[in-house]
Amino acid sequence: MQGITMQIIILGNGGAINSGLPYNAFLLNGSLLCELPPDIMRSLGDQNINPLAIDTIFVSHFHGDHIFGAPFFLLNSFMEREKQVRFIGPAGIKEHIVAITRAAFGQSNPCLEWLETNGIFEEISHNSLIEIYPGVRFRFFRLNHSVETYGFEYIKNDKARFVYIADTLWCDSIAEILRHKPRHVLLDMNGEPDDPEQKHLSETDVRQKALSITGTNTKYYGTHLKKNKKSTINQLEYVKAGFKIRI
Ligand SMILES: [Zn+2]
Ligand SMILES: [Zn+2]
Repeated sequence: MQGITMQIIILGNGGAINSGLPYNAFLLNGSLLCELPPDIMRSLGDQNINPLAIDTIFVSHFHGDHIFGAPFFLLNSFMEREKQVRFIGPAGIKEHIVAITRAAFGQSNPCLEWLETNGIFEEISHNSLIEIYPGVRFRFFRLNHSVETYGFEYIKNDKARFVYIADTLWCDSIAEILRHKPRHVLLDMNGEPDDPEQKHLSETDVRQKALSITGTNTKYYGTHLKKNKKSTINQLEYVKAGFKIRI
């Protein structure tokens, strides 16, 4: 496989972040979708991405801003699909997706039958290693969030190319993964240094902890932002819908 282009998709009017919870997801190599936020169909449409090209979906945890898009994604694509779709996520991923879809459309909706026959569900735990494509492996690692949450390291030819750090506070598994000195890190930057209670990463974590491990060769991309902001760190950039990272 040659270079992989990863596309970040964030909801907003033309990519601007206004108010409310900014949902986010990203697509890797045109076929692997990471996160299923409620607005996923609109976000895919904004970037002219055909949902039928997606064959693998990773959900980091079961908060609504990461999984409530499941029924709409399924409704808009299941009828045309004969092929299987692979869902990767924490323990209970199948039960969660089925329950949300049932709550949205009712037990008799054909999406549920489709999920039973065409959905492949893979549950991950800390250090799970999954071959996503031939020669391309993801190692999953546990984060520190209010519910079970995972990030992953994308490994090709035994080298860490890219790391995704979903909703979390700073924790040992982040430090451990960063010691592999990945080239690119996409991370939850929903936190602000002056938040009354820290629940997400902020620029203080990148400046004081991450950079001291990776040095200056690792590029950081902030996502899951609560407002438009400008980075004060050279190695950190905040991303908007349509932003592309070539890894
Ligand atoms: Zn969360
Ligand atoms: Zn979130």
